[in-house]
Amino acid sequence: MTQASTKWHDRAGELSPEPRAFIDGAYTEAVSGKTFEKTTPRDGSLLANVAECDREDVDLAVRAARRAFEDGRWSGKSPAQRKAVLFRFSDLIEENLEELALLESLDVGKPVSDALSVDVPSCASYFRWYAEAIDKRYGEVAPTAPEFLATITREPMGVVGAVVPWNYPLILTAWKAAPALATGNSVVLKPAEQSPLSAILLARLASEAGLPDGVFNVLPGFGPGAGAALGRHPDVDKITFTGSSEVGKLFLKYAGESNMKHVSLECGGKSAHVVFPDAPDLDEVAETVAGGIFYNAGQTCHAGSRVIAHRSVRDELIEKIAAHAATYAPGDPLDPDTTLGTLVDRSQMERVLGYVDLARREGAEVTVGGGRKLPETGGFYVEPTVFSGVGEEMRVAREEIFGPVLSVLDFTDAGGEAEAVRLANATAYGLAGAVWTQDVGRAHRVSGAMRSGTVWVNCFDASDVTVPFGGFKESGTGRDKSLHAIGQYEQLKTTWIRIGDR
Ligand code: ADP
Repeated sequence: MTQASTKWHDRAGELSPEPRAFIDGAYTEAVSGKTFEKTTPRDGSLLANVAECDREDVDLAVRAARRAFEDGRWSGKSPAQRKAVLFRFSDLIEENLEELALLESLDVGKPVSDALSVDVPSCASYFRWYAEAIDKRYGEVAPTAPEFLATITREPMGVVGAVVPWNYPLILTAWKAAPALATGNSVVLKPAEQSPLSAILLARLASEAGLPDGVFNVLPGFGPGAGAALGRHPDVDKITFTGSSEVGKLFLKYAGESNMKHVSLECGGKSAHVVFPDAPDLDEVAETVAGGIFYNAGQTCHAGSRVIAHRSVRDELIEKIAAHAATYAPGDPLDPDTTLGTLVDRSQMERVLGYVDLARREGAEVTVGGGRKLPETGGFYVEPTVFSGVGEEMRVAREEIFGPVLSVLDFTDAGGEAEAVRLANATAYGLAGAVWTQDVGRAHRVSGAMRSGTVWVNCFDASDVTVPFGGFKESGTGRDKSLHAIGQYEQLKTTWIRIGDR
């Protein structure tokens, strides 16, 4: 064990995470007194007995959020005042970098070095970016007849329910809560049952930063309990969700069966790299493809989980990807040299290994990996895996596996560009995709024809808060990130004022 990893093991041993919900400015047990065991996927050991919130807790949190919204303690502050508080919140997130990173790593099994360099700093930066944006947002005056003044102003929606998954708990919380809070809403956040701990700590930091009681509430619990109660609550104005398409559809149903609350969804993906023979540099393509599917153990909604390669470059590309896969050896998330941690829990690991069996039964070849690793640790490690010879009709070509698993398909000159595009679009998803070519005309044509919210040309996973992120088709509705996301937490109000004679 290196000295650097000893430090993290020692800190993990001393850790005693806060396990309670945060409602109306205070930590509290669930009304039922129930808790659930939160274990770490690194070795299966217990991290905390976490409050299991349900309908009654959701009701308490929504009432607190509504009270806060109505009396204006946050919604009534000037944008500049909200900005100052959110700046302090970002600072506190950065000051608590190591504790947040450790919690995130233990909760979901991601490498602590990724949590330190990506998850926590990104979370802080999102709050700061929306805080900076909010006092530069103007209303409009409509070009009406001169006897009227018609203004178009933006108002916060009210109570926003945010339901997030476990793959990037801090980042996705920030994608939702930062624009929602900056615009003056109150938020009730339900983190995933697999990853409640960093959100519970965030709640205290938000309060220390000066967010008034009731404005940011965190309710750990399960989907069908707390999640559904939030989705069905008659006094929640907006649900913002990231997770599976299946559960995203449930939130649309909950809204339809309750109060027609606004719903924005960011759901699954099956992103494809379309690789033409004139791709600039196959080594770079291979390295980028490997990073795009093995980072975060492939548990990323826009993970590049398919390659659609021209047959003339396919085999060479697979060989090069295999070489890069070897640099993602599964290892202890607390070792700072680890690049591939665990899957989030046993059921996710079994699901991924189930797809390996399925690929074999469907007639694909498991060219790289395909097995569980380090079972003696009690952790849920799966090696980087590449399926070749994948046909478009196979389930591994169409379904989201959510693990370090890549499916390689191919196309030939017979079908050409049109065939490549058709294959890229041949899933229910439409989150992201990439095209690799030096032909600028082809790059434009293919990126235009790909039915997805993001297309990368000769790169993958270029990412920044300045651009919207979200999906076409069953990858969702609405967009996170960028100035566009702010509108998802606002209502537009038109006010007509007569200023001249009839
Ligand atoms: P994943 O497949 O990434 O685990 P899910 O869609 O199952 O994604 O979960 C994402 C979030 O949705 C989590 O916070 C989870 O608790 C919540 N959730 C899961 N099932 C339901 C449900 N039936 N109703 C409401 N929320 C749910």
